[in-house]
Amino acid sequence: MSQAVLSSGQESNVRHNWNVKEVEALFALPFNDLMFQAQTVHRQNFNANEVQVSTLLSIKTGACPEDCKYCSQSARNKTDLEKERLLATEKVLEAAKKAKEMGSTRFCMGAAWRNPKERDMPYVLNMVKGVKELGMETCMTLGMLSKDQADQLQDAGLDYYNHNLDTSPEHYNQIITTRTYQDRLDTLDNVRSAGMKVCSGGIVGLGEQAIDRASLLVQLANLTPQPESVPINMLVKVEGTPLSDVDDLESFDFIRCIAVARIMMPKSHVRLSAGRSSMNEQMQSLCFLAGANSIFYGCKLLTTENPETDQDIALFEKLGINTETIDDDSKDVELKIKTAVIDNQHSDLFHNAAQ
Ligand code: SF4
Repeated sequence: MSQAVLSSGQESNVRHNWNVKEVEALFALPFNDLMFQAQTVHRQNFNANEVQVSTLLSIKTGACPEDCKYCSQSARNKTDLEKERLLATEKVLEAAKKAKEMGSTRFCMGAAWRNPKERDMPYVLNMVKGVKELGMETCMTLGMLSKDQADQLQDAGLDYYNHNLDTSPEHYNQIITTRTYQDRLDTLDNVRSAGMKVCSGGIVGLGEQAIDRASLLVQLANLTPQPESVPINMLVKVEGTPLSDVDDLESFDFIRCIAVARIMMPKSHVRLSAGRSSMNEQMQSLCFLAGANSIFYGCKLLTTENPETDQDIALFEKLGINTETIDDDSKDVELKIKTAVIDNQHSDLFHNAAQ
């Protein structure tokens, strides 16, 4: 099913009045009942054998002034990450071309900033225009945005803006103190008002309680309209960050989180994001069964590991999953994509870009 079909009537049958109690009740369902419900909702809204694929490139790495306790890019965390200034536009476009050849329909560009400075704007606007000219969807994550910056990005052709809520409002102060929950909601509001699509989700495994996962999903689902894209990340513990030795989240709790997100946000793409490299094929398959229908390709997710692209293709083949294309009617495109993935699997572009 194409995205164009899904966007028409995107909001019909979507609820925005979820409360934490009823979401906790969903989490408490027997696992098989929860999976059945999630898969039923998934099939009502999507082709259950199709996954959308994006590529994420870090366009500016490290030295971020924010204090997100999970992040290797915060200047306050002593990690061995190599910093990198804003990449030249040509380098970004070269990576986007490669991503397109490898089957990505959306190119996401991430910068480790509190917010873009006015002097950065001409560069990022040019990147958006260039990637659009390649015929790809564009997404950026640059930190907080003012109304004016959101308008400029929309005018340049930016399709999606990513800004995660990260965790519940109740757990938030344990994780970040340099920007407020309301700052995040305000940025999402500016993005929406400018007319762009919203990509917003969170991270689980941050030492939060089960009720925090329910509360995060309530925040996301009650946004009006709901985010078109909802990344659910499993914490990748990075040495040198305050969360490096937090207790692991039980795998089934993660899968339940995907399933509940699918039920609450039936029309959104639920993205299986960071943490995928530590999940075996069976766990990823259960996430797809629970309703995840989007992933990132590429060896690095900003600065943490992501599975090799050829492993993803092999898993998709085992499961009979097709990648969602922008122009949905050409199986030739898909074949070309798979060939290009195999040809490009040893390309080091995506490694270098994020180091
Ligand atoms: S998550 Fe983003 S805002 Fe927070 S420290 Fe990392 S790069 Fe900066």
